[in-house]
Amino acid sequence: MKKILAVLLMSVMVMSLASCGKSSSGTAQAGVLVMATNAEFPPYEYHEGGDIVGIDAEIAAAIAEKMGCTLEIEDIAFDSIIAEVDSSKADMGMAGMTVTEDRKQSVDFSVTYAVARQVVIVKEGGDIASIDDLAGRKIGVQQGTTGDIYASDDYGDDNVERYSKGMEAVQALAQGKIDAVIIDNEPAKVFVSENEGLIILDEAYADEEYAIAVRKGNTELLNAINEALDELKKDGTIDEIVDRYISAN
Ligand code: GLN
Repeated sequence: MKKILAVLLMSVMVMSLASCGKSSSGTAQAGVLVMATNAEFPPYEYHEGGDIVGIDAEIAAAIAEKMGCTLEIEDIAFDSIIAEVDSSKADMGMAGMTVTEDRKQSVDFSVTYAVARQVVIVKEGGDIASIDDLAGRKIGVQQGTTGDIYASDDYGDDNVERYSKGMEAVQALAQGKIDAVIIDNEPAKVFVSENEGLIILDEAYADEEYAIAVRKGNTELLNAINEALDELKKDGTIDEIVDRYISAN
C-alpha cells in the first residue's frame, strides 16, 4: 500500500516537473517560473506587508499554476529586467512592460494582456494645461521606461530628470523640483491620490500595450505563457484580477 502511494506520488511529481521542467516549458530551473519585476508600480506590482502583490503578480501566479510551476518573484531595477531575462537568470519579465520595437530586438513578447497610456502629471492650478506646454520644462520619469524614452526624444536629455522609482518622480513634482511627470496611467492615479495638489492631464501622451518578455528564441516558454494567457482571458480570470485592483472610474 505504502509502496503504491509512493509510486503514485512520484509520478505526480514527475508529471508536474515535466510540465514545468526545462525540457517541456523552457524555464531555466525545473519546476520554477522566475519572474523579474520592479515592485514599485502599483497596481501592477508593489510591496504589501512582506509580499509582492498586484495585477501582474496575480496573473503570473495563475500562469505558473496552469504550467504546474512554482512562481518565484525577483524584485530588481526596471531597466535591468530585460538583461535578466536575456541572460536566463529570470524566465520572464513582467512589470507593466510596454511592447516596443526596440525591446523586441532583445526579447520576445507574449500576447498582450493589458492596454495602457502614458499620461502627464502636473501641479493643480499650475501653468501646464496641455502637452503643448511641456516644451522647455523639467520632466521627471522613471529611468528606462517608455516615459523616459519619449521625454528624452521629444524634449532632449537636459530637460529630463530620471528617478529609480516613479513615486520619487511624483514626490519631486509635489515638492516643486520638477514641472511634470510622464508615467503610466494606473500608477499615475495611485501616486496622485497619495500626494496633495497634483492632477493628471486629460490628454494621453501615448497609447501602449503590456506583455510578458521572455528570452529571445525561447518559444517553448513563450507558447506555454501565451496558451495560459489565452485561457485566463477567455475564462474571465484576468478581468476578475484587474477589477479587484482597478475601480471602474
Ligand atoms: N510601461 C512602462 C514601460 O514599459 C513602465 C513600466 C514600469 O515602470 N514598470 O517602460
